Amino acid sequence: MSIISDAFEDLFPEKNIGDFNFNIKYNGKFKPYNANVKYTRNSFAFNLSKKWERVSREIQIGLLQELLLKAFNIDLYNNFMKKIHIAAPKTRIDSFLEESFDRVNEKYFIGMVEKPNLVWHSSIRRLGSYEYGSDTISISRTLEKDEPAMDYVMYHEMLHKKLKFDSSNGSCRHHTKAFRELERKFENSNEMEERLKSIARQGMRKRFLFSYSGGL
Ligand SMILES: [Zn+2]
Repeated sequence: MSIISDAFEDLFPEKNIGDFNFNIKYNGKFKPYNANVKYTRNSFAFNLSKKWERVSREIQIGLLQELLLKAFNIDLYNNFMKKIHIAAPKTRIDSFLEESFDRVNEKYFIGMVEKPNLVWHSSIRRLGSYEYGSDTISISRTLEKDEPAMDYVMYHEMLHKKLKFDSSNGSCRHHTKAFRELERKFENSNEMEERLKSIARQGMRKRFLFSYSGGL
């Protein structure tokens, strides 16, 4: 029996090992006793420092099991986070933001994005955010007076809601290539990017002046 099937079957006796692919590499470039696992759906690639090669079989099994558990738990967590929006209560929907959401939804998503919570925030640095756990899009007050820019940020956050995140390869990526391509589909997206930069700059200046006078 290979070391990985021992590790796996001991940990998950109810799972069918044939459903998974495993690959172990001992890497000479790794720091001593460093190890990680990268996984895509049902496929695990273990990378172990060369030092592990001479460690006893039992201890190596322990290491592989720890890495397996970590990978499975992260996978469970990610799947949970991708679905949790269904259960999140929608109790905070600002009507002004709702108009923006509806406009963007009609124009770019044929009305298919389910309405999340829609709230304002006062941060200048972050113009928008989407929180998976509470299913909430939050938009900076600095965008209140600029409808097209607000819609553009709304669109960005709606893409996050729609695409969730790409958790293949063991790391989460939010702004994937596919995400950026869709983002550019927004009307005049280049102009909008410039506009956001200038809004952010203005916001910074105002904040500086404010904190300066506040300090006097
Ligand atoms: Zn983003």
